[in-house]
Amino acid sequence: MAIHSKEEIFSSLDDEVFGTGFLPHPLPKYKLPKHETDPTAAYQLVHDELLLDGNSRQNVATFCQTWVEPEVRKLMDECLDKNMIDKDEYPQMAELEARCVHMMADLWNSPNAANAMGCSTTGSSEAAMLGGLALKWRWRKKREQAGKPTDKPNLICGPVQICWHKFARYFDVELRQIPCEGRRLLMSPKEVIARCDENTIGVVPTLGVTYTLQYEPVEEVATALDDLEEEHGLDIPIHVDAASGGFIAPFIHPSVVWDFRISRVKSINTSGHKFGLTPLGCGWAIWREAEDLPEDLIFRVKYLGGNMPTFALNFSRPGGQIASQYYNLVRLGREGYTKITKGCADVGAWFADQIKKLDMFELVYDGRGGVPGCTWTIRKGEDPGFTLYDLADRLRVKGWQVPAYPMPANRGDLVVQRVLSRLGLSRDLAGLLFEDLERAVKHFDKHPASESLTRKSAGGYHHN
Ligand SMILES: *Cc1c(COP(=O)(O)O)cnc(C)c1O
Repeated sequence: MAIHSKEEIFSSLDDEVFGTGFLPHPLPKYKLPKHETDPTAAYQLVHDELLLDGNSRQNVATFCQTWVEPEVRKLMDECLDKNMIDKDEYPQMAELEARCVHMMADLWNSPNAANAMGCSTTGSSEAAMLGGLALKWRWRKKREQAGKPTDKPNLICGPVQICWHKFARYFDVELRQIPCEGRRLLMSPKEVIARCDENTIGVVPTLGVTYTLQYEPVEEVATALDDLEEEHGLDIPIHVDAASGGFIAPFIHPSVVWDFRISRVKSINTSGHKFGLTPLGCGWAIWREAEDLPEDLIFRVKYLGGNMPTFALNFSRPGGQIASQYYNLVRLGREGYTKITKGCADVGAWFADQIKKLDMFELVYDGRGGVPGCTWTIRKGEDPGFTLYDLADRLRVKGWQVPAYPMPANRGDLVVQRVLSRLGLSRDLAGLLFEDLERAVKHFDKHPASESLTRKSAGGYHHN
């Protein structure tokens, strides 16, 4: 809603703040107030506004971390004033960032982790932009050297997260998204190869597809690209979007080969604030070797004197996320991350098993072999008297956010619902969620969902 149409209704905020007299004057909502307000009263006011937001722990839609150890809160507070970009003033922060980069390169089996390049970002979206830019720059340089045109770059992917659509639009790259067909809801080597040409800057498989939580077959795609190179001389690099999977697969799926063990994988992004267990605002982009990150994208900070390159879309940013990431890495180690990730996966698989017992549903992802959680749909031919949008709506009554959404093209007809199992969703809490889900199903048994509400709105929460 446009702010100005709201302003007519709420031109002032006439709150008493619980009878204290702290807030004796009305405060305008959309104009800078003329006078100061007592900090206690102002705090209470802002605090109360935020009460109306959802409870993040009950949000099983998000992949992002919603529970942190008290030590992380302490570090975040201590780093409030540390600007991570100022590597001259905060060289130790830069050192921690570098350690994280090398630890992740090592975790992802870099053949030479000590020489890997990388940086922290605000999340996987920024990391994806940087990864995509590096692909585009390298492709363009090769084309220029060969005296070939550089005006039609394309990027191949499966059902990607929105950040890749943004990258393609912002940086003028054609996105060749492989449509879903029938039961195939991921990219396949065959479909990738069918879209490759001399203008392909790279292929982006996702390790933990947003829609279903499954991993795309990185190794098989790489092998198909090897064959393509042998036959046609096209050398197409891979960037893996491991926003979630980067901190899952190394711990609970060691046999899935998706990382720098594959020489064609030139770069990887991950979200520190997802299964990296860091508070919001932390992502990472790592390049296999220095040569995979084009030199002219890097701004070298001269006053640092070290080899910490600056490659980012933004400048100033607090260092707390980096410090917290480093804390988590040293605090948990492989043992701790494995324990937590396995715990999350167990809860996800348990939830899938419960869903399976309700016979109106069919699992799309059973919580095994991908991101902890599960995905389901209404069994074909079944009409339980409600849609998944109705169910999502009903669960909101108890504060749960369990998203229902259509799959991307060409399976827009397939509506799925998803539960994400993160650190903080205990088996007990998941049990309470399932009880509420069963109750919601029973409710629709007695009171079939009205035709007028969610049945007709394909966009889930986007009612008019
Ligand atoms: C979450 C996610 C992103 C975007 O990451 P942010 O850290 O939210 O910017 C990109 N790709 C995938 C696969 C994701 O799951």
